Amino acid sequence: MVRNDSFRHIGMRNRLVQELKQKNIVDPNVLVAIGKVPRHLFLESGFIKFAYQDKAFPIGAGQTISQPYTVALQSQLLQAQAGEKVLEVGTGSGYQAAVLIEMGVKLFSIERQSELYQRSTRLLRELGYQGRFYLGDGYEGLPAQAPFDKIIITAGAPFVPKSLLMQLKVGGIMVIPLGDTRQVLMRITRINEEEFEQEEIEECAFVPMLNGIAGK
Ligand code: SAH
Repeated sequence: MVRNDSFRHIGMRNRLVQELKQKNIVDPNVLVAIGKVPRHLFLESGFIKFAYQDKAFPIGAGQTISQPYTVALQSQLLQAQAGEKVLEVGTGSGYQAAVLIEMGVKLFSIERQSELYQRSTRLLRELGYQGRFYLGDGYEGLPAQAPFDKIIITAGAPFVPKSLLMQLKVGGIMVIPLGDTRQVLMRITRINEEEFEQEEIEECAFVPMLNGIAGK
């Protein structure tokens, strides 16, 4: 398949970056990364012409690619620095993963839907995005690769998974949408071995974080 990124797409991306600035996305690393990732290649062909609107879209298997604002906000809250180890739960389309890799992090990402895992891993590899991708249950995290500087959950979690908190370094940050049908985006900072600080950021709506592996 031809993966085409034209001047027209670049122009639309620059407009999206301006729109995100107006919505209070200020981290230059995040804005630069959003300006680079060809989001239109992460959408199904029917939606390509809407790729640079600030909207979520279906990506198959009942899942969605998050709205650019949400991807930008979560990335900004994570305060991810180049070289840090970041765990993402919910690879989905691979778009958030690509943004984090553009920011220079060492990305580890888990997806439970086998179809999405295969598709997004292939696409990211074709586009040259280097990360480590796993088919698995994000509730368990990746104990063998822990601890992580940052953990980003991109599905609505009914509770904060203890196993994931334990995989966070002291001083590390987790960004997690907490709740069932609607969520509150939370930022959790690990103060020391036992203590965590929680901040409520704003309301959001994600597909649910589910248990186990699914699909063929
Ligand atoms: N970050 C993605 C957002 C995808 S939507 C993107 O940029 O496109 C959330 C994703 O989380 C879905 O693909 C869903 O299958 C996945 N998911 C839900 N529960 C999960 C779990 N327990 N472990 C891993 N992935 C999970």
